[in-house]
Amino acid sequence: MARYTGPVCRICRREGMKLFLKGDRCMSSKCAIERRNTRPGQHGQARARKLSGRGVQLREKQKVRRSYGLLERQFKRYFDIALSRPGKTGENLLQLLEMRTDNIVYRLGFADSRAQARQLVTHGHFRVNGRKLDIPSATLKPGDEVTVRENSRNLEYFKTRALMLNTRGVPSWLRLDTTALAGRILAVPTRQDLELPFDEALVVEYYQR
Ligand code: SF4
Repeated sequence: MARYTGPVCRICRREGMKLFLKGDRCMSSKCAIERRNTRPGQHGQARARKLSGRGVQLREKQKVRRSYGLLERQFKRYFDIALSRPGKTGENLLQLLEMRTDNIVYRLGFADSRAQARQLVTHGHFRVNGRKLDIPSATLKPGDEVTVRENSRNLEYFKTRALMLNTRGVPSWLRLDTTALAGRILAVPTRQDLELPFDEALVVEYYQR
């Protein structure tokens, strides 16, 4: 599946906020937003034009889409599914995005960013309910168990990760066994469970103009 391969910090600078796309670097003083919070490009330092209502909706949509590392067509597909489901479309959308395999791997702490999680999944380091799964976009459900494959546990990366996992928590809707390197989805997260700095209503308005 296609993905964005350009400079990552540029995305945060475009949106004017940290989207935490690079793991530990985002917490350090090396973060581009900390060092130089201007829009990218030749006119980045110029005073930002006041956005129209449509512009505000577009920027919010871009923030959500880019946080999850999706291209427009993939993101719109999730929106269409969210719209077809009962309940609040915005919440449905975030839930669909959160239940992607790469996001679950990221939320469990097996990776520092969704991009890294996506690569680990693609490289076949995980099993879901005992079966190998290497599709980052695969949708998981409550009750599913994600484990690091036996062979992969001996890799230096996962040995170091196992030590780090003990010092980190996981969201309340997930459970992690740090010894077995296994995580379980307890429930689909509610909007309150997801501490995301997005206004998903603007995303819905953007697509429903
Ligand atoms: Fe964004 Fe992280 Fe880069 Fe900072 S370091 S600009 S939060 S991706």
